[in-house]
Amino acid sequence: NYVWTQNGIIAKDSLFYPFEERGLQFGDGIYEVIRIYQGNYDLLEAHIDRLYRSAEAIRLQVPFNKETLIASLQKLAEKNAVETDAKLYLQITRGSAPREHTFPNVPSNLYAYIEQSARPAAQLQQGVRTILTEDIRWDLCYIKSLNLLPNILAKQTAKEKGAYEAIFHKNGQVTEGSSSNVFIVKDNVLYTHPAAQNILHGCVRNRVLNLAAESALEIQETTFSTQQLLAADEVFITSTTSEVMPVIEVDGNCIRNGKPGVITRKLQLAYEKVSEIQETA
Ligand code: PMP
Repeated sequence: NYVWTQNGIIAKDSLFYPFEERGLQFGDGIYEVIRIYQGNYDLLEAHIDRLYRSAEAIRLQVPFNKETLIASLQKLAEKNAVETDAKLYLQITRGSAPREHTFPNVPSNLYAYIEQSARPAAQLQQGVRTILTEDIRWDLCYIKSLNLLPNILAKQTAKEKGAYEAIFHKNGQVTEGSSSNVFIVKDNVLYTHPAAQNILHGCVRNRVLNLAAESALEIQETTFSTQQLLAADEVFITSTTSEVMPVIEVDGNCIRNGKPGVITRKLQLAYEKVSEIQETA
């Protein structure tokens, strides 16, 4: 099992970090999670583009250009002989240096590794329960930063309540999930929060909007309230690992009849088709 770092591909067990590391001490870094289906990266360029946007937003130097980065990730997949469904985790931090808030003058630290990751087949079929929770995060959630404390706390609360995801709301308006974007369908119109600075611009969100546009579904990238969420005909969340995931319950309230919606199913199937997902379950 190999990882890729700024110094090349090395054995996973030989990767160590100094305790004075910006990611460890400040969460001063950014990351991406990229899906691999049957050994092939999905939405690779979209993720790499977002990585560069995140880097620019926090004034972090990415030690490679996009082409080199993509070529190296391909090499890593080959080296690990990935053939199944898996995911890549990649992070870049502002490097290792004595602890001081201001930027150190050192190279950034990068690592990327691949691990097996099965699709959540049962949940994709049956749909999942969610809870609502206050969005207490900062204003720049479009940056995929390592600072995930509010997301972790929200997801843990969801888990303890037997739910799959926590849906954030701010001033009564739904923003996104703790690790997903949120969509509702009402009277054949698809709604999702606009790609503003306060949510992550999900790669799956974007693909789903394109698929919806192709299917001639009316799309509204506008905010919607928690009441509209509860009164929706259909609700689903999207993410790299959850794909197009039907939501059947919010805070103990069934969404309509408590079954995955018809439009959700159509988008789910369309998503599987463009992602060239093979049924493995
Ligand atoms: N919002 C948040 C807060 C997330 O962590 C994620 C998962 N990366 C998403 C949305 C979905 O993004 P993507 O579709 O690119 O996985």
